[in-house]
Amino acid sequence: MTVDKPLVVLTGAGISAESGVPTFRGQDGIWQDYRAEDLATPIAFERDPELVWRFYAWRRELVSGCQPNQAHHLLVDLEIKSSQFTLITQNVDGLHKIAGSQNVLELHGSLWELQCTNCKSKWPNHDVPFAEFPPLCPFCSSLARPAVIWFGESLNPDTLDRAFKVSSNAATMLVIGTSALVHPAAQLPIIAQLNGASVIEINPEETPLSSRMDEIFRTSATEGVKRWYDQQYWVD
Ligand code: NAD
Ligand code: ZN
Repeated sequence: MTVDKPLVVLTGAGISAESGVPTFRGQDGIWQDYRAEDLATPIAFERDPELVWRFYAWRRELVSGCQPNQAHHLLVDLEIKSSQFTLITQNVDGLHKIAGSQNVLELHGSLWELQCTNCKSKWPNHDVPFAEFPPLCPFCSSLARPAVIWFGESLNPDTLDRAFKVSSNAATMLVIGTSALVHPAAQLPIIAQLNGASVIEINPEETPLSSRMDEIFRTSATEGVKRWYDQQYWVD
């Protein structure tokens, strides 16, 4: 049976927590004595590209040892069941694509792509371990960087535009494992709701969005997605 109403899912770092990928918030000391928020910035890269590079090399290595979990897999199943399905993720770990999700908007980019700091070309790179130093762009020989959106940078306008469009057109939006502190991603559930969507939060902790949600599963992503899935009409 297929679902013909537009279903949109917004995910954050919390959906990958049960795969073993640490979140930024809710725990201290993600990496040595630095805060992720101080390393994932253009200023940090300008000041010390090698330090930032080592942070990404560490994150790649960590993620390469992780597998998608049941929540990622159920979202693949939902995409198969839905005629209009979009997954918007703030995650850069690539686990949704590894699980098999097809229509994915990676709002904040991907750990598995590099980008030239000068000509802005992008290219895939799956090396683990990563090179010790940032490589040079194959097109213009300038310094390469991870193709992720850093704190203080703007999102890709086309990706953001598509995210706003599908959100305003959603009948249902699942909001899974995001602290809803990073904008503009945190606005998407509000846009969806203002345009008539029923918005459901799955998160073990309260967020700034919680008070306006239509339904809340105050539990982990795997448990919450399974419970929501099991209460849909396609389940006998
Ligand atoms: P966040 O780190 O700010 O918040 C994580 C949220 O997940 C919290 O609300 C927490 O309560 C919830 N959570 C923790 N365990 C959970 C579980 N088992 N199931 C469901 N929810 C759980 O994450 P964010 O809102 O995505 O924003 C942080 C930014 O950092 C984003 O831009 C994101 O790209 C980036 N980030 C990405 C990754 C990744 O790719 N896996 C990891 C860390 C940070
Ligand atoms: Zn270049």
